[in-house]
Amino acid sequence: MNVWVSRLKGFARLHLDVPVTALLYALVGGATTLLFPTQGLLPAPLWPPSALALVLFIWRSGRGLPGVWLGACWVTFQLGGMPGPAAMLVGTMAALGPWIGARLLRQLHRAPLRLSRQRDVWPFLWCGTALPSLIAAVGGTAALSLSGGDDALSLATHFLRWWLSDAGGILLFAPLALLVLEAYERPGFWGQWRFLERMVLTCCTLGVAAMLFWVVHGDGGQLAVLSFLLMLPMIWTVARFPLWQSHLLSTLVALVALVGTVHGGGVFYIDSIRQALLCTGTLVMVQSVALLVVGSLVAEREESELFLRDANQHLEDKVRARTRELSESEARFKLVADAAPFPMVMNQLSDGQVVYANPRAEALFHYQLLPGAPLYVQAFYADETERDQISGILRNQGTILDREVELIDGYGRRFWAWLSCTVIKSNGVLCVLTGINDISERKRLESSLKAANDALRQQVSEIEELQHGLREQAVRDPLTGLFNRRYLDSSLSNTLSHLLAQQRPVGLIMLDVDHFKQINDNHGHLTGDMVLATLGQYLRAHFRSDDIVCRYGGEEFVVVLPGASMEVSYAKAERLRQGVAELVIPSANGMLAVTLSLGVACAPQHGTDTKRLLDAADAALYAAKSHGRNRVYRASIDRLAPGEVALRRSAQV
Ligand code: GH3
Ligand code: MG
Ligand code: MG
Repeated sequence: MNVWVSRLKGFARLHLDVPVTALLYALVGGATTLLFPTQGLLPAPLWPPSALALVLFIWRSGRGLPGVWLGACWVTFQLGGMPGPAAMLVGTMAALGPWIGARLLRQLHRAPLRLSRQRDVWPFLWCGTALPSLIAAVGGTAALSLSGGDDALSLATHFLRWWLSDAGGILLFAPLALLVLEAYERPGFWGQWRFLERMVLTCCTLGVAAMLFWVVHGDGGQLAVLSFLLMLPMIWTVARFPLWQSHLLSTLVALVALVGTVHGGGVFYIDSIRQALLCTGTLVMVQSVALLVVGSLVAEREESELFLRDANQHLEDKVRARTRELSESEARFKLVADAAPFPMVMNQLSDGQVVYANPRAEALFHYQLLPGAPLYVQAFYADETERDQISGILRNQGTILDREVELIDGYGRRFWAWLSCTVIKSNGVLCVLTGINDISERKRLESSLKAANDALRQQVSEIEELQHGLREQAVRDPLTGLFNRRYLDSSLSNTLSHLLAQQRPVGLIMLDVDHFKQINDNHGHLTGDMVLATLGQYLRAHFRSDDIVCRYGGEEFVVVLPGASMEVSYAKAERLRQGVAELVIPSANGMLAVTLSLGVACAPQHGTDTKRLLDAADAALYAAKSHGRNRVYRASIDRLAPGEVALRRSAQV
């Protein structure tokens, strides 16, 4: 519908502007001619078309000149009876005068002319009244003198009359029209006319009714049809005024009609009052019923309109209140967030644009949120994929708690932080509210603590290594690498108690290098040391790892053989003797050979404690020495106490 209206307007503006304007001008000119038929048209005592032209040019910002010119030419030629060229001259000047006046007013003001303002009145008088009428008067006088008009009047009189006629027309009608237009553009324009409209309508309707029923007498009922015209103002009042006012008017009209008819008048009267009264009564009834039906329809519509307007108003009030509440709560949120002791940022979920950052966040990131310079949270993430992951989680779960993220500030500084995010709706847009906890200091402490811990662990392992070394040094003989005598003392008693409790034997070989002193004497102490070290290596290789091989002192060694019987121990001792006798030890002074003397004892038959067992083996060794060296001797049971011998024998069995 609106499209068609705007199309029609466009068409009228393009094609009907000139004819419509010309017609309007001609109509007003024609009416003026009718008003002053005997005065002569040129110039008429008052020329309202000049006012029309001026108002048109002011209202339409100078547009419409061709239409006014055409109308003015036609009126002068057709109604004024001027010859063609003179009429064209008058028309041109009559159109140009107001046009120039309107243009000047526009140039002076650059704002719509308002005669309700005192500063607009003087320009109107000079540019809008005096000047246009002057131009028109010049044109008119020139045309009259050209066409050889009224010779009795001098040119000056012509000019004055013409000028007065145009100026009077403008002054009489233009202010009224301009003030009405000014009022029309303000709200409540139509409300100002209500009372006047009501009065005019009421008076006219009652006047017409009085005319029809009091003045006019029925003439065969030919004028009766006019009575239906009274329905028109009734319907008008129904549409425009409250229903009771319409009924009041209807009642008054009915009273007028009935009174008139009763007194023998009215359009319904033919030959009897009864007949006329019947018609009048019917008219009154029809009028009342029509008023009731149409009135109720209109009233209902107005009521529903009122209801809708009220509902609309109520809704608007609610929206306003809600908007106020929202803006208040937003202001409250901003107040709280501004005062929060930790950085907070709010951004749009869709594209990450930051919509709010509290002062702590701005200080942390070294960014400032300025209007016209959009910021995006992507810029704060050291790793871009991290931000994608976070927004994915937020879209699915709506919240994230204490996620450790590496961030980057405006200066490019990287730091670690815990982020806690929640999706909220702000102004209908999904946003992410993020609280940030800068943990870079904590991270730094953590890493320094870890470094200190690593160093401590390193120190502990070094100490453990040292302790192990010290323990080894305490139980090892440095020259041969074998266990020392201290270790033998502590371990032999344990081995004995452990093995004997399981009723298993413990073999013990004590050996001594033969004539070792000669090696020292002949080859030097260092060579002696070297021989001892070689013997240590040989002994370690010769016995199992379970066996305890010790340097007992000087060039004496003891080997403990857990679980080995006397025979097994003896056999091992013999093999050792042979092996060492065959051993060739290279030295600086050539090849060396050594022999061993060995004594073998075994627990429990030669003793169940360390001392006795060692003594037994020592005695056997002594026997081996004394019987020529380089031999193995068993310990003798006879040397033991009689009670113990009996006990060992039974153990051997
Ligand atoms: P025998 O056959 O009777 O055992 O004669 P021997 O010379 O071996 O016995 P003796 O006890 O007289 O000599 C042992 C020598 O061993 C005396 C000592 O100087 C030497 N000796 C003891 N301990 C070491 C040592 O650690 N290094 C060196 N080079 N010699 C040592
Ligand atoms: Mg010796
Ligand atoms: Mg010795």
